[in-house]
Amino acid sequence: MCTFNGILKEYPWISIDSFLTTNCQVSQVFFISHIHTDHLRGLDEPTFAEYITNNRSIRIYCSEASRHFLSILPAYKHLSQFYSVINVDQPYTIENPMDKNIAITVTCFGSGHCPGSLMLLFEGSHGTVLYTGDFRLYSHQSNRHRIILSKKPIDTLYIDMTFFEPSIRQLPEREQACQELIHFIEQYDNRYFYLKTSARVGYEYIYTSLYQHFGILIHVNSEQYHLYDYLPQVQQALTIDAHGTRLHACWPKCSCAKSSIKIVLSVLWFTLQQQQQFNSPLIQISTDYYRLCYSLHSSYNEICTFIKQISPTHIHPIALPNQITPSRFNELLKQLGIDQFPTIYFSPSNVEQQIKRRYQTIENINNNDDNDELDFDCGQNQENNEKQLYKRISNLQQPPTKK
Ligand SMILES: [Zn+2]
Ligand SMILES: [Zn+2]
Repeated sequence: MCTFNGILKEYPWISIDSFLTTNCQVSQVFFISHIHTDHLRGLDEPTFAEYITNNRSIRIYCSEASRHFLSILPAYKHLSQFYSVINVDQPYTIENPMDKNIAITVTCFGSGHCPGSLMLLFEGSHGTVLYTGDFRLYSHQSNRHRIILSKKPIDTLYIDMTFFEPSIRQLPEREQACQELIHFIEQYDNRYFYLKTSARVGYEYIYTSLYQHFGILIHVNSEQYHLYDYLPQVQQALTIDAHGTRLHACWPKCSCAKSSIKIVLSVLWFTLQQQQQFNSPLIQISTDYYRLCYSLHSSYNEICTFIKQISPTHIHPIALPNQITPSRFNELLKQLGIDQFPTIYFSPSNVEQQIKRRYQTIENINNNDDNDELDFDCGQNQENNEKQLYKRISNLQQPPTKK
């Protein structure tokens, strides 16, 4: 989960993925790397809407796909007129609206995380900065990535280090996980399947692969279906007709998927297990209940490969592994040849993240019900869900004891 406050230290007039009052106080130019809710903090708040309406020179830049998604999502569509599209691989000069003498060149690249997800490269008088957003680049892919090919020296790398932990050295590639899922579904001609996703977007490869292989459409709710109006190649794999299919990825789960085989698509659960030796990305938890290791974030090895290729002077993590200490984190960085001063210290916001994750683990072990995966990104009533979440977290300060 993103814990970055959004403000680029080198260019504080720019904020990325955060739209809170603290950002509005210093920034006039905003970027959105992708549309997962932990990268849209404050964007749905009335205070931000007020700020941007009263300051017409303010802009929010994002990819074409993100603009489309945001323009139809109920929480963000009221800002439609303010989303400006930046295209991949095309340098843009962006002026500081407060001082026309200050400008920066920004170039964006794909980040391999979800549709429309961007990496952002900023070049200006205060150094060259690369912001990865959430990213997944396989080690064998990254040397072909444009930013690596450009050989630009990077002063500061703001990077997604969600799985920067040697015990999460490798994660199955998404294609491999999907292949495993196809083999599994093939064994059950007449069964219904329920695919439990944990984010609004990011599972498109699964939908299209299942459709291509089985010729069966996947049931999703109407909002999810229309999210893909802009991506017909994804939408053609989906249906809003619950009765016409045995493959379901609907949220909330429809009655047709009631006695289905449930497969949770996630990665966090796998990374929290003590032994990391899974022979397959798909494992059985109980009768008709499975988990598929499907990661939208880079593994430890993939992060290390990318950092070594970029070889930045400074690193600034935008997401951290579960329960890592600052000293261990800095030690791991040193092993990669990054010996920066001052060393990285985590802000207390990471404690909240750890509690959330602890909640997930405890909840999964003790409450084997339908609600076993936390949906930060997937909710019809986001505000209410968040409130419920915090309520449940505060009840989990003490590990539950068996009576
Ligand atoms: Zn994300
Ligand atoms: Zn359904």
